[in-house]
Amino acid sequence: ITILGIESSCDDTSAAIIRDGEIMSNVVANQKVHEEYGGVVPELASRAHQQNIIPVVELAIKKAGISRNEISAVAFTRGPGLLGSLLVGTSFAKGFSLASGIPLIDVNHLQGHVLALFIKEKEIEYNPPKFPFLCLLVSGGNSQIIIVRNHLEMEIIGQTIDDAAGEAFDKCAKVMGLPYPGGPYVDKLAKEGDPLKFEFSRPRIPGLDYSFSGLKTNFLYFLRDNIKKNENFIEENKTDLCASLQHTIIEILLGKLKRAAKETGIKEITIAGGVSANSGLRNALKENAEKYCWNLIIPKFEYTMDNAAMIAITGYYKYLNKEFVGQNTVPFARTQL
Ligand code: ATP
Ligand code: FE
Repeated sequence: ITILGIESSCDDTSAAIIRDGEIMSNVVANQKVHEEYGGVVPELASRAHQQNIIPVVELAIKKAGISRNEISAVAFTRGPGLLGSLLVGTSFAKGFSLASGIPLIDVNHLQGHVLALFIKEKEIEYNPPKFPFLCLLVSGGNSQIIIVRNHLEMEIIGQTIDDAAGEAFDKCAKVMGLPYPGGPYVDKLAKEGDPLKFEFSRPRIPGLDYSFSGLKTNFLYFLRDNIKKNENFIEENKTDLCASLQHTIIEILLGKLKRAAKETGIKEITIAGGVSANSGLRNALKENAEKYCWNLIIPKFEYTMDNAAMIAITGYYKYLNKEFVGQNTVPFARTQL
């Protein structure tokens, strides 16, 4: 079974081929147009998707070394994401399905981030998590703790009530004058800094839910107050600011994850989403895994950020379940799982 996956939910246009669960190609075209605006501009994103989608799909098929008629089904990101961007991938997938006479499969982007853990690779030992497992899904738009019962059955047991963890990284990075998206820059600078130099506020939210907007405001006011006293405050303290900010975000994320593991009794722990690329978070998870005897599974770096391989692998499991959709399917912008 050969699945073509299409991802266009935000600012990356991506296409991938997965055969029987194993990756054959994964092409990602980043959109550079947004950098100068310090955030994704939806109108520009959908236009760039339109320009990218055909060459990206052609390249994915070429790199996989297959011909179009070997594709069994086409899977596309239906949501959540930017509606204009999603429409480009959705329309392309529908056209491809119709032209090739193959089934169409809709994929939830968040489910895709989770199932990225199941992508097989040639000559690399296959080590997927065992059900049921907990997944800390941390991305630009979401921060959730999910119980994954099987490939297609997931339950959100905790989520952010305001900003996502990635948003906290990006917004705080922006006020420090770092490029967009700021998460990777904070990660890099944090390595040189002192994580305990500054203290920022942590939310007190009941249960397993998260909140990051208070931290963002606290960080902003902290900088503003200190810049009044020393206009070079950010420049002089950049690495310590990044390290302390990152430390706070990690503590918040891990606090609830530890609680979830304790309450559910599940020791099979995974992470997913763009923020799972964060080196501080990865290290902290490894330390906790040793302490609490977790079996920790961390996805390969290239499958943490938005990519179509995760959409294709989800499509593969839906194909096995014969979960197809019709030409009347429309994208959705808001979170649902
Ligand atoms: P969603 O999946 O919720 O719709 P998204 O697709 O925009 O959102 P991803 O592509 O999964 O999100 O992740 C992007 C986010 O990951 C950005 O906020 C980015 O700053 C963050 N990120 C990427 N690498 C790192 C890193 N090393 N450290 C911290 N954050 C990072
Ligand atoms: Fe994403």
